[in-house]
Amino acid sequence: MKNDFVSRRSFIGQLSIGTAALLTYPSLTAFGNPQKQLGVALVGLGKYSTGQLGPALKQTQFCKLRGVVTGDKAKGQQWAKDHGFPESNIYSYDTMAELAHNPDIDIVYVVTPNGLHAQHVIAAAKAGKHVICEKPMANTVAECDAMIKACKKAGVKLSVGYRLHFDPYHRELMRLARDKDFGTFTKMSGDRGFVMNTKVWRADKKLAGGGPIMDLGVYIIHGACMAANGVAPVSVTASEIPKTRPDIFSDVEEGMNWTMHFADGAECTAFTSYRHSADHFKAEGAKGWIEFKEHAFTYRGMVVETSRGPLSFTPPFQQALQMDNFAQCVLNNTESIVPGELGRRDLAIIEAIYKAAQSGKRELVNV
Ligand code: NAD
Repeated sequence: MKNDFVSRRSFIGQLSIGTAALLTYPSLTAFGNPQKQLGVALVGLGKYSTGQLGPALKQTQFCKLRGVVTGDKAKGQQWAKDHGFPESNIYSYDTMAELAHNPDIDIVYVVTPNGLHAQHVIAAAKAGKHVICEKPMANTVAECDAMIKACKKAGVKLSVGYRLHFDPYHRELMRLARDKDFGTFTKMSGDRGFVMNTKVWRADKKLAGGGPIMDLGVYIIHGACMAANGVAPVSVTASEIPKTRPDIFSDVEEGMNWTMHFADGAECTAFTSYRHSADHFKAEGAKGWIEFKEHAFTYRGMVVETSRGPLSFTPPFQQALQMDNFAQCVLNNTESIVPGELGRRDLAIIEAIYKAAQSGKRELVNV
């Protein structure tokens, strides 16, 4: 089966533009033979672990899968067989503290429902392991604070699974925002949704923290901050769409319209829902624009155009680059470009959006 992962050398080599910008990220260019492959344990063996992270961990250079935390022992045994680690490295959610005694595991990657991220990240930190946590980082800013504090106290690194920082199209968006080829991006828009027809954990407030804004809207929020050169909006306005299926969306929104207002006057209008299909983002400045026409925030298949013409990059295996980058941060004791603080920032924006949807007023973002 053809795998679209490209090595870091060819990934960099195939970039037609934005290469200079990429080279400013030292840990993406620090190649060489790894001294040691760090051991990773995945917590939660659902769709994302199975479809993306497991396969990515067969491609990584600086880390490899050495254990799992799962509620399903048989599934863990299958993973142990597939990835060649001992069954003694299979843990349950209740035995995560025992990871502390396992030198095979250096990094714990939390891939459970959002509402469980805080407890699993804190358990991993207490076991002395470096942690990657999936997006959204948690249900609330308060949980993010507790996670950051626990990792600091344990002296371990914390990173969020923001894989798009390792995607060449999004890196080009960040470069354009920084170098201002098209001027400052003042007008942005994003639309992301998929149709959800059954009540799964993503529509359960306790486990998901909210509806599509937590799961999908966070990408638009993050993309808009990239287009704003890493700056967060100062305020937001928002309105929840009327529910067409209140049985499924009994305690979370089915969809949300919102606008992010930035200090320099830039705005991003956005829509997300679990009742329509979309994956789009556009940023416009006085001198040009960039438009993610299809698969804006997905793993591959992005169609991206600019006012100067289309962009064409060979898609890397985002998750492999992301995990290798974190492993290098651990090995070299450097900071992740996607630290816990970035996940916390996005939760602060989400909390302001929910507040604005409730109040019907413009609400300040407290990042
Ligand atoms: P999933 O439902 O497929 O998997 C969730 C896993 O958590 C399952 O193995 C399940 O058994 C386990 N789990 C443990 N306790 C549970 C509980 N009380 N209720 C339900 N499940 C429980 O979900 P997923 O799509 O793999 O998403 C997991 C996390 O990864 C979420 O935070 C999601 O936002 C994130 N995610 C990120 C990306 C990305 O591109 N970065 C993509 C998909 C999912």
